[in-house]
Amino acid sequence: MSLDEIRTRIARAEGKAGRAPGSVRLIAVSKVQPNERVEAVLDQGHRIFGENRVQEAAGKWPAFRERYDGIELHLIGPLQTNKARQAMELVDAIHSIDRSKLARTVARLAQEIGRCPDLFIQVNTGEEEQKAGVMPDEVDAFVAECRDLDLPIRGLMCIPPVDEEPSLHFALLAKIAARNGLEGLSMGMSGDFETAVALGATHVRVGSAIFGERVKPEG
Ligand SMILES: *Cc1c(COP(=O)(O)O)cnc(C)c1O
Repeated sequence: MSLDEIRTRIARAEGKAGRAPGSVRLIAVSKVQPNERVEAVLDQGHRIFGENRVQEAAGKWPAFRERYDGIELHLIGPLQTNKARQAMELVDAIHSIDRSKLARTVARLAQEIGRCPDLFIQVNTGEEEQKAGVMPDEVDAFVAECRDLDLPIRGLMCIPPVDEEPSLHFALLAKIAARNGLEGLSMGMSGDFETAVALGATHVRVGSAIFGERVKPEG
């Protein structure tokens, strides 16, 4: 698939769901992709990208930012507190706020740095033991805690279990967001972004469908 095809499919899904054209932001997930593939997408005019790891993002995006204007970078992978400062200085949004300690660290650093990326709370909608994210029944309290810390929480994010129907998880995330007055919904990947758009996604995170299969293993 190509970037154009993905954009077309998102537009079609927006239309079908009766949503305004352009209401969904496409985050092109460039983790472990070779630079020439990322450049090809930049050269087609795309500017919103997602990375999984702070280290990798720090190694590749400052140079791209010197060459291309208007890049918006999203951290979509897990964040350790000792990498929080580096992440906050590098990215425009963090989708993986998932625990009190991290929330408090980000709040303190935001005071020091004088700015804070847009934040999304990651929700473990499948209640999977090995997966990051706040449990569904703990989200309301965590949102309140983050608001007490004056954090700019824009929405919620989820990664559904691989072997389950994603629409159930997207609908659950949308429901939790609505009752907390949050507008952002970061959900949907290469295999299910149209379903996510139908259920209200504001940000879809699409990697392999744009760039092709990842060439190096993740880790
Ligand atoms: C890798 C990744 C994606 C993109 O996955 P694809 O299936 O390649 O589209 C989306 N979200 C997160 C959190 C990821 O780590």
